[in-house]
Amino acid sequence: MNLIFLGAPGAGKGTQAEIVCDKLNIPTISTGNIIREALKNGTELGLKAKSFIESGKLVPDEVVIDIIKERLAQDDCKEGFILDGFPRTVVQAEALDRMGINIDKVIDIEVSDADIEKRLTGRRVCSVCGSSYHLEYKKPAVDGICNKCGGALVQRKDDAPETVRERLAIYHEQTEPLKAYYEEKGKLFIVEGQEEVADTTALTFKALEA
Ligand code: ADP
Ligand code: ZN
Repeated sequence: MNLIFLGAPGAGKGTQAEIVCDKLNIPTISTGNIIREALKNGTELGLKAKSFIESGKLVPDEVVIDIIKERLAQDDCKEGFILDGFPRTVVQAEALDRMGINIDKVIDIEVSDADIEKRLTGRRVCSVCGSSYHLEYKKPAVDGICNKCGGALVQRKDDAPETVRERLAIYHEQTEPLKAYYEEKGKLFIVEGQEEVADTTALTFKALEA
Protein backbone atom coordinates (compact mmCIF):
# COMPACT_ATOMS: atom_id res chain seq x y z
CA MET A 1 0.00 0.00 0.00
CA ASN A 2 1.27 3.47 -0.91
CA LEU A 3 0.16 5.96 1.71
CA ILE A 4 0.52 9.64 2.50
CA PHE A 5 0.14 10.93 6.04
CA LEU A 6 -0.99 14.53 6.03
CA GLY A 7 -1.54 16.94 8.90
CA ALA A 8 -0.25 20.05 10.59
CA PRO A 9 3.22 19.96 12.12
CA GLY A 10 2.85 18.21 15.46
CA ALA A 11 -0.49 16.59 14.64
CA GLY A 12 1.17 13.24 15.25
CA LYS A 13 1.40 11.98 11.70
CA GLY A 14 5.00 10.87 12.23
CA THR A 15 4.04 8.82 15.28
CA GLN A 16 1.15 7.16 13.45
CA ALA A 17 3.27 6.56 10.38
CA GLU A 18 5.87 4.69 12.46
CA ILE A 19 3.20 2.47 14.04
CA VAL A 20 1.50 1.66 10.75
CA CYS A 21 4.72 0.92 8.91
CA ASP A 22 5.81 -1.55 11.63
CA LYS A 23 2.53 -3.34 11.27
CA LEU A 24 2.46 -3.36 7.45
CA ASN A 25 6.19 -3.90 7.14
CA ILE A 26 6.77 -1.04 4.73
CA PRO A 27 9.17 1.89 5.17
CA THR A 28 8.19 5.34 6.40
CA ILE A 29 9.83 8.11 4.47
CA SER A 30 10.01 11.32 6.46
CA THR A 31 11.43 14.25 4.53
CA GLY A 32 11.89 16.09 7.84
CA ASN A 33 14.07 13.27 9.21
CA ILE A 34 16.06 13.01 5.99
CA ILE A 35 16.75 16.75 6.04
CA ARG A 36 17.64 16.85 9.76
CA GLU A 37 20.03 13.92 9.25
CA ALA A 38 21.70 15.80 6.38
CA LEU A 39 21.97 18.86 8.60
CA LYS A 40 23.64 16.83 11.35
CA ASN A 41 26.10 15.35 8.87
CA GLY A 42 26.81 18.70 7.22
CA THR A 43 26.12 17.40 3.70
CA GLU A 44 25.37 19.65 0.74
CA LEU A 45 21.65 19.04 1.21
CA GLY A 46 21.99 19.98 4.87
CA LEU A 47 23.66 23.27 3.99
CA LYS A 48 20.98 24.07 1.44
CA ALA A 49 18.18 23.37 3.90
CA LYS A 50 19.60 24.81 7.13
CA SER A 51 18.23 28.36 7.09
CA PHE A 52 14.79 27.21 5.95
CA ILE A 53 14.29 24.41 8.44
CA GLU A 54 15.59 26.36 11.42
CA SER A 55 13.26 29.28 10.80
CA GLY A 56 10.27 27.00 10.23
CA LYS A 57 10.00 27.72 6.51
CA LEU A 58 9.54 25.08 3.86
CA VAL A 59 12.62 23.86 2.05
CA PRO A 60 12.31 24.70 -1.68
CA ASP A 61 10.13 22.28 -3.66
CA GLU A 62 12.83 21.20 -6.10
CA VAL A 63 15.10 20.16 -3.22
CA VAL A 64 12.54 17.89 -1.52
CA ILE A 65 11.22 16.56 -4.81
CA ASP A 66 14.74 15.34 -5.67
CA ILE A 67 15.07 13.71 -2.25
CA ILE A 68 11.80 11.82 -2.68
CA LYS A 69 12.50 10.76 -6.25
CA GLU A 70 15.75 9.19 -5.18
CA ARG A 71 14.29 7.56 -2.06
CA LEU A 72 11.25 6.05 -3.78
CA ALA A 73 13.49 4.45 -6.40
CA GLN A 74 15.10 2.25 -3.74
CA ASP A 75 14.21 -1.43 -3.49
CA ASP A 76 12.51 -1.34 -0.10
CA CYS A 77 9.71 0.84 -1.51
CA LYS A 78 8.54 -1.77 -4.03
CA GLU A 79 5.92 -3.29 -1.70
CA GLY A 80 4.62 0.06 -0.52
CA PHE A 81 5.62 2.99 1.67
CA ILE A 82 4.31 5.75 3.87
CA LEU A 83 5.18 9.34 3.08
CA ASP A 84 5.37 11.44 6.23
CA GLY A 85 5.74 15.16 5.57
CA PHE A 86 5.66 14.94 1.78
CA PRO A 87 3.95 16.37 -0.23
CA ARG A 88 3.56 19.66 1.60
CA THR A 89 2.64 21.85 -1.35
CA VAL A 90 0.48 21.36 -4.44
CA VAL A 91 3.62 21.62 -6.58
CA GLN A 92 5.08 18.65 -4.67
CA ALA A 93 1.86 16.63 -5.06
CA GLU A 94 1.85 17.28 -8.80
CA ALA A 95 5.49 16.21 -9.02
CA LEU A 96 4.60 12.95 -7.25
CA ASP A 97 1.82 12.33 -9.77
CA ARG A 98 4.24 12.98 -12.61
CA MET A 99 6.63 10.37 -11.21
CA GLY A 100 3.87 7.88 -12.07
CA ILE A 101 3.44 6.80 -8.47
CA ASN A 102 -0.03 5.68 -7.51
CA ILE A 103 -1.14 6.69 -4.04
CA ASP A 104 -3.79 4.45 -2.46
CA LYS A 105 -4.85 6.58 0.47
CA VAL A 106 -4.13 9.89 2.12
CA ILE A 107 -4.67 9.89 5.88
CA ASP A 108 -5.16 13.39 7.25
CA ILE A 109 -4.70 13.69 11.00
CA GLU A 110 -6.56 16.72 12.32
CA VAL A 111 -5.68 18.58 15.52
CA SER A 112 -6.65 22.15 16.48
CA ASP A 113 -4.05 24.92 16.27
CA ALA A 114 -4.26 25.54 20.03
CA ASP A 115 -3.46 21.89 20.78
CA ILE A 116 -0.65 21.89 18.24
CA GLU A 117 0.99 24.88 19.92
CA LYS A 118 0.91 23.10 23.28
CA ARG A 119 2.25 19.89 21.87
CA LEU A 120 5.11 21.36 19.87
CA THR A 121 6.43 23.86 22.36
CA GLY A 122 6.53 21.11 25.03
CA ARG A 123 8.14 18.56 22.74
CA ARG A 124 11.68 17.36 23.42
CA VAL A 125 13.62 15.02 21.19
CA CYS A 126 16.59 12.75 21.82
CA SER A 127 19.75 14.28 20.37
CA VAL A 128 21.08 10.79 19.66
CA CYS A 129 18.24 8.56 18.40
CA GLY A 130 15.53 11.12 17.59
CA SER A 131 12.84 9.63 19.88
CA SER A 132 10.23 12.14 20.85
CA TYR A 133 8.98 13.13 24.34
CA HIS A 134 6.78 15.82 25.90
CA LEU A 135 7.27 17.85 29.09
CA GLU A 136 3.69 17.13 30.17
CA TYR A 137 2.21 14.33 28.10
CA LYS A 138 5.08 11.95 27.54
CA LYS A 139 7.72 12.41 30.21
CA PRO A 140 10.91 10.36 30.09
CA ALA A 141 11.66 8.17 33.13
CA VAL A 142 14.52 10.54 34.05
CA ASP A 143 14.21 14.26 33.27
CA GLY A 144 16.16 15.27 30.17
CA ILE A 145 17.31 11.72 29.33
CA CYS A 146 16.09 9.39 26.58
CA ASN A 147 14.47 6.16 27.82
CA LYS A 148 15.71 4.21 24.84
CA CYS A 149 19.36 5.21 24.54
CA GLY A 150 20.27 7.53 27.41
CA GLY A 151 20.89 10.46 25.04
CA ALA A 152 20.24 14.06 26.08
CA LEU A 153 16.80 15.47 25.27
CA VAL A 154 16.76 18.82 23.48
CA GLN A 155 14.20 21.18 21.97
CA ARG A 156 14.20 21.34 18.19
CA LYS A 157 15.02 24.88 17.05
CA ASP A 158 11.81 24.97 15.04
CA ASP A 159 9.75 24.08 18.14
CA ALA A 160 10.36 27.51 19.69
CA PRO A 161 6.99 29.29 20.13
CA GLU A 162 7.40 32.00 17.41
CA THR A 163 8.61 29.40 14.94
CA VAL A 164 5.69 27.11 15.73
CA ARG A 165 3.26 29.90 14.83
CA GLU A 166 5.12 30.49 11.58
CA ARG A 167 4.97 26.77 10.74
CA LEU A 168 1.22 26.68 11.42
CA ALA A 169 0.64 29.69 9.17
CA ILE A 170 2.62 28.03 6.39
CA TYR A 171 0.70 24.80 6.93
CA HIS A 172 -2.67 26.53 6.50
CA GLU A 173 -1.49 28.46 3.47
CA GLN A 174 0.51 25.86 1.55
CA THR A 175 -0.24 22.36 2.83
CA GLU A 176 -3.92 22.43 3.73
CA PRO A 177 -4.95 22.89 0.05
CA LEU A 178 -3.73 19.31 -0.43
CA LYS A 179 -6.86 18.11 1.35
CA ALA A 180 -9.00 19.38 -1.52
CA TYR A 181 -6.46 18.05 -4.02
CA TYR A 182 -6.79 14.47 -2.72
CA GLU A 183 -10.47 14.76 -1.83
CA GLU A 184 -11.21 15.35 -5.50
CA LYS A 185 -9.38 12.14 -6.32
CA GLY A 186 -11.44 10.28 -3.69
CA LYS A 187 -8.33 9.44 -1.66
CA LEU A 188 -8.73 11.57 1.44
CA PHE A 189 -9.52 9.96 4.81
CA ILE A 190 -9.80 12.20 7.86
CA VAL A 191 -8.74 11.02 11.31
CA GLU A 192 -9.50 13.22 14.32
CA GLY A 193 -6.31 13.22 16.41
CA GLN A 194 -7.04 12.06 19.98
CA GLU A 195 -5.24 12.82 23.20
CA GLU A 196 -4.01 9.26 23.53
CA VAL A 197 -1.76 8.00 20.76
CA ALA A 198 -3.39 4.54 20.89
CA ASP A 199 -6.85 6.05 20.31
CA THR A 200 -5.62 7.88 17.22
CA THR A 201 -3.99 4.65 16.04
CA ALA A 202 -7.30 2.78 16.32
CA LEU A 203 -8.98 5.44 14.14
CA THR A 204 -6.09 5.35 11.69
CA PHE A 205 -6.43 1.59 11.17
CA LYS A 206 -10.16 2.00 10.73
CA ALA A 207 -9.48 4.52 7.95
CA LEU A 208 -6.98 2.14 6.34
CA GLU A 209 -9.55 -0.66 6.31
CA ALA A 210 -12.35 1.54 4.95
P1 ADP B 1 6.83 18.84 11.34
O1 ADP B 1 5.81 18.00 10.63
O2 ADP B 1 6.80 18.63 12.83
O3 ADP B 1 6.89 20.26 10.91
P2 ADP B 1 8.95 17.66 9.81
O4 ADP B 1 10.02 16.91 10.46
O5 ADP B 1 8.03 16.96 8.91
O6 ADP B 1 8.24 18.32 11.04
O7 ADP B 1 9.55 18.91 9.00
C1 ADP B 1 10.40 19.84 9.58
C2 ADP B 1 10.89 20.85 8.56
O8 ADP B 1 11.54 20.18 7.47
C3 ADP B 1 9.82 21.69 7.89
O9 ADP B 1 9.45 22.79 8.67
C4 ADP B 1 10.55 22.10 6.60
O10 ADP B 1 11.49 23.11 6.83
C5 ADP B 1 11.30 20.84 6.24
N1 ADP B 1 10.51 19.94 5.35
C6 ADP B 1 10.14 18.66 5.63
N2 ADP B 1 9.41 18.14 4.64
C7 ADP B 1 9.28 19.13 3.70
C8 ADP B 1 8.61 19.22 2.45
N3 ADP B 1 7.90 18.19 1.94
N4 ADP B 1 8.68 20.39 1.78
C9 ADP B 1 9.39 21.43 2.26
N5 ADP B 1 10.02 21.42 3.44
C10 ADP B 1 9.98 20.28 4.16
ZN1 ZN C 1 17.54 8.28 22.36
